[in-house]
Amino acid sequence: MRKRIVLLIFGLLTLEHAICLDTRTPHVAVVGGGIGGASASHFLTELTKGNLAIDLYEAKRIGGRLATVKIGDNEHEAGGSILHPMNMYMQRFVKLLGLEHNLPTQDTQMFGIWDKDRFVYKSDSWTIVSLIKLVYRYGFQVFKLNRDIRDIIGHFEKIYELQDAGKSFENITALMSAINEEFLNCLQTSLKDRLLHMGYSRRLIDELAEAVVVVNYGQDIDVQSFTGLVSLAGTGADLWSVKGGNKRVPEGLIHGNKNINVMSGRVRKIRYIAESSDNARQYELTYTSKDNTYLTTAKYDIVIIAAPLTSDQEFPIEFADFPKDLEFPGSYQTTHATFVKADVKPKYFGLRQSLDFILSCNPNKTIISSLGKVDSVDGSDEVGSPIWKIFSRKPLETGLVHGIFSNVIEKTTVVWKAYPHYLSNTTTRHSFKLHDALYHINAIEWVASAMEMSAIGGRNVAILAYDDFLRKNSLVSHRETPKDGPKTPFEELYHCR
Ligand SMILES: Cc1cc2nc3c(=O)[nH]c(=O)nc-3n(C[C@H](O)[C@H](O)[C@H](O)COP(=O)(O)OP(=O)(O)OC[C@H]3O[C@@H](n4cnc5c(N)ncnc54)[C@H](O)[C@@H]3O)c2cc1C
Repeated sequence: MRKRIVLLIFGLLTLEHAICLDTRTPHVAVVGGGIGGASASHFLTELTKGNLAIDLYEAKRIGGRLATVKIGDNEHEAGGSILHPMNMYMQRFVKLLGLEHNLPTQDTQMFGIWDKDRFVYKSDSWTIVSLIKLVYRYGFQVFKLNRDIRDIIGHFEKIYELQDAGKSFENITALMSAINEEFLNCLQTSLKDRLLHMGYSRRLIDELAEAVVVVNYGQDIDVQSFTGLVSLAGTGADLWSVKGGNKRVPEGLIHGNKNINVMSGRVRKIRYIAESSDNARQYELTYTSKDNTYLTTAKYDIVIIAAPLTSDQEFPIEFADFPKDLEFPGSYQTTHATFVKADVKPKYFGLRQSLDFILSCNPNKTIISSLGKVDSVDGSDEVGSPIWKIFSRKPLETGLVHGIFSNVIEKTTVVWKAYPHYLSNTTTRHSFKLHDALYHINAIEWVASAMEMSAIGGRNVAILAYDDFLRKNSLVSHRETPKDGPKTPFEELYHCR
């Protein structure tokens, strides 16, 4: 009986607490409308059951590094393009939004690894012949490589379990070690050293692994090994993209969320209002409209930055009046994505017949990092010459374009600050939590940059922000106040008493 009364009292207290929390509406600013900002907004809305108000600031266009480019008759992926079947959140979002998968139109694509002087490997239209050639060049290690990568990267899937259980992490070190202690070593060893240590041959490392990292991240095998292994894992079968363009995921999550107010503008400054009491919003954002015509400020309880913050970014943000300096070490790799509607001249590459994909294992000599035929985002066929996408670290000179292609009908280039410039040893200073209720999703890019990683980073920050908000405000709500005394500003704000 006594137990039942205790339970009843506890139940009533919990109910009061729940009602109290239910009527609180955190005012949240999300800076950046890419997949990271879209994911954080989605998960935070889910956690608060829609009891929040989000102002989402976007300086350019919703989607960020997920964008399409029109060339020839159709739209093509200009930024993030390939998804892995194990990308759980991207799969979930696609289902939630009623979108479809866009699968490659050709099953067998002929590809080669080029070092400028020759092709060190060339596939064949017969899969079995391609495999024999692979084994001839690199030995049976190619099969072992697949297995090893699956084993190592497979552990990363534990992040979904941890996040489903409501776990969040303040920095990348905590996140990686919670998944697997071994992952910290991956962040601190280069891919080259790690593969050498695992017994792989110099030839496989310098050609196969190098070509994959160059096409995925525009960088060499000196990148930290977690990023390198993610690159290698992304070469398997069943890769996919979103029909209509991957950008449809952030667009759908943002425009379909009635708690989000999209602010087309650029955030210039975030100020910590140190003197604010517990209940007042503690961050002031200064932003300009897209056309730079007016400058305004607004105050928030929670600020989530969903954009890179290194000093080389297009829209830098100033942080003012924080108790300590906020630092964002490193820089981003520039990648030029050039799209050409034309025919390849096989002779340029010393070939008799052109390939579908050419990967460089020596980008300093080849200038181009990769060249490949691309499908349209909705699967429509291209009439006449195909569309080629070339990645390079530098702009492609017109002479080079005409050297590689004949019958150039159209050409367009998108320049990206594409992904972090990885060192062989990632500093562990990248934090998701920058201050009390100020968060940064893109810390996760220093583990690896990919759509799914930003979605995971977004959920991590949503859980962090929600837990911190609850902790902070439930402490206040449990404070003992005289029954009929004046309401505190906190109680006024959240109608909570
Ligand atoms: C060429 C290329 C190829 C890629 N290929 C793949 C791939 O095949 N598979 C894969 O998974 N990933 C790939 N990626 C990586 C992937 O696209 C990114 O990791 C991911 O899209 C990052 O999303 P995000 O939301 O974190 O950042 P972003 O998409 O960069 O979003 C940040 C947004 O914030 C806005 N912003 C910035 N500063 C401000 C400010 N001060 N005020 C207001 N708004 C601001 C920006 O305009 C931008 O829209 C590729 C990237 C590139 C560039």
